[in-house]
Amino acid sequence: MKAPLSAFLFAIVTTACGGNQNEPAAPTHSPSPTGTTNGDAPEGGEHPKPSIDETALDLNLSPCNDFYQYACGQWKASHPLPDDEAAYYRTFSGIRDRNEVLLRNLLENFSKGENTAEPYATELGALYQACTDEPAIEQKGLADIEPFLKRADALKSKQDIASLLADLTAAGVSVPFAFSSSQDLKDTTRVVAQIDQGGLGLPDREYYLSDNAKHKEIRDKYQGHMVRMFELGGSKGSSKKLAADAYAVEVELARASMSKEELREPEKLYHPHTKATLSTLAPDLEWEPYLSAIKASDSKAYNVAQPDFLKAAAKLSSPKNLDRYKSYLRWHILQNFAMHLPKRFVDEAFSMRQALTGAARLPDRWKRCVRATNEAIGEALGQAFVHATLGDEGKAIVKELILNIERAMNVRLTQIPWMDDATRAAALTKLGAISNKVAYPDRWRNYAGLRIDRANHTANMMAANRFEFARQIAKIGKPVDRTEWLMTPPTVNAYYEPLLNEMVFPAGILQPPFFDKASSTNANYGAIGMVMGHELTHAFDDEGRKFDAQGNLREWWSATVNKEFETRADCVKSQYEAFEPLPGLHINGKLTMGENIADLGGLKLAHAALATRLRDAHPTIAKGERRTYTNEQEFFLSFAQGWCSNEREAYLRLQVATNPHSPAKFRVNGPVANLASFARAFGCKEGDAMRRGEKQQCEVW
Ligand SMILES: [Zn+2]
Repeated sequence: MKAPLSAFLFAIVTTACGGNQNEPAAPTHSPSPTGTTNGDAPEGGEHPKPSIDETALDLNLSPCNDFYQYACGQWKASHPLPDDEAAYYRTFSGIRDRNEVLLRNLLENFSKGENTAEPYATELGALYQACTDEPAIEQKGLADIEPFLKRADALKSKQDIASLLADLTAAGVSVPFAFSSSQDLKDTTRVVAQIDQGGLGLPDREYYLSDNAKHKEIRDKYQGHMVRMFELGGSKGSSKKLAADAYAVEVELARASMSKEELREPEKLYHPHTKATLSTLAPDLEWEPYLSAIKASDSKAYNVAQPDFLKAAAKLSSPKNLDRYKSYLRWHILQNFAMHLPKRFVDEAFSMRQALTGAARLPDRWKRCVRATNEAIGEALGQAFVHATLGDEGKAIVKELILNIERAMNVRLTQIPWMDDATRAAALTKLGAISNKVAYPDRWRNYAGLRIDRANHTANMMAANRFEFARQIAKIGKPVDRTEWLMTPPTVNAYYEPLLNEMVFPAGILQPPFFDKASSTNANYGAIGMVMGHELTHAFDDEGRKFDAQGNLREWWSATVNKEFETRADCVKSQYEAFEPLPGLHINGKLTMGENIADLGGLKLAHAALATRLRDAHPTIAKGERRTYTNEQEFFLSFAQGWCSNEREAYLRLQVATNPHSPAKFRVNGPVANLASFARAFGCKEGDAMRRGEKQQCEVW
């Protein structure tokens, strides 16, 4: 939903909010989870069957030539992209599909008035029911957003503007900047108001500004899309002018925006203000009425992440620009709710998604409604999901696994030659202070007071936005809630949050093929173990390392060790910049640096933890066991198969332009080519593509 995820949330994959068409996802025929034949395998016990998907392999290739293709070739060939997907992952999308079918059943039952003992069953059922009732949505038309459109048209004074911006922001239309709350970056014990850049309709400033032909193509399509959307919104004769005006405002916002590479430098995002200095910084906005309307007028501090942006954004509403500004607001009201309006709006909004991602058709209505419900009241839906799917027995194995990965990091930090004693001690303290959340929250979010109308989908989504915004603002000045989760339990993802110094693994990702308690230790370490290592490494990647054990942004590295780190990080940057997902399209080494470091570190940590685990366990070959692969081979294959995927060309371009994660193929081949253990496991020789020369190898952690 609009709930701004923390700017510093480092996930294993990027999932788009809302309609999720940008999300890696997928397929109708996900391969059956491996290793399900022996549910009685003892905890961590070796399983008598290799837990990799042999039907996915392309055995015509050498693993030393292109390991990703070797591990995934057959899967890729036999899983053409579903029409409604821009990218489809064997793991992420396959699990998501399974979860969505389950959630659909739950929601359909709730909407029929069944299972009412589940918390929020009535609200969930009503929300889903309203979303699937397309005739009712058609009949309502624009009624729920009409008041906003009228107010935008009638703007006269600075007071009007402040009041409309406040009400729009609260309803989920965060323009031209985003307002929320956040822990103070340098004193994470307190929660303050937070203002971030935003207000663009395209995914990134570069789409407005760069000379890149593909970006130009997208912005042309976008402007056509704006015209059509204004027409649908009732501005027939003037739609071209409105679109041109709104677009001109966005170009100015794009110019004033920080680049996505700069946004990865947290020290540039810390500019605490008071109410008084806000008015000095951006005098064109009437702050007092704005802040009191959103109930944020008594924050001790307002962190303005991008002061230059805020200054420029406020200026855009000056009286001489007022007509343009009205068009801009009208545009964002339409764009923001389009997916929840009548079909003509949904189709038009999808046409833009299509241009950006390449997906051929909209996901079915039920899928969109499951996603909308998850977006709106995800922790209510999450409770029902957990009750339906999860026992506690897997949780202990998962916790043990995390512990073993952390132990491997402890060994690394203790041994690493380029750290001095002081920095090493601080790093170990940070490692020791990391907390972990597994499967689902201990304390569920309270939705009391949220009104859901069985007959009004648009109003429901708006109400959910308002509820979430009020929840965010109410945190200001209160003690930090360390029990909060930023992803819902069915989410197939994981994250590290540096301000809380914690790792979080929702139930969604603790499922086959990522994790299966009946699967082999090798396979679990390669798949979910690597995900855990990845999240842990984020605490020490080029961005995460700037936060200390308490989550405070603080310089705790000595100058020498700093330099040593940067040299190693630059090695990773150069390696990935050389990768070309499409001819002429190179990976952005700076944007993806943190994720690449985390992939490399995550794989190494999981491998080290497995080595220790196997040594401790003295694995023996079980009677009758068919061993095609060694422990190490199985580990690496299980890892690689976590990333088997197919993507559309448009999606790849979007991913490279905006996503901090490298495309799947390079998340596999990038790390393995740096590991001597991989070369050893598959007998790769010098000169093979998957074995870099010793001098060419990168190692950060
Ligand atoms: Zn990550």
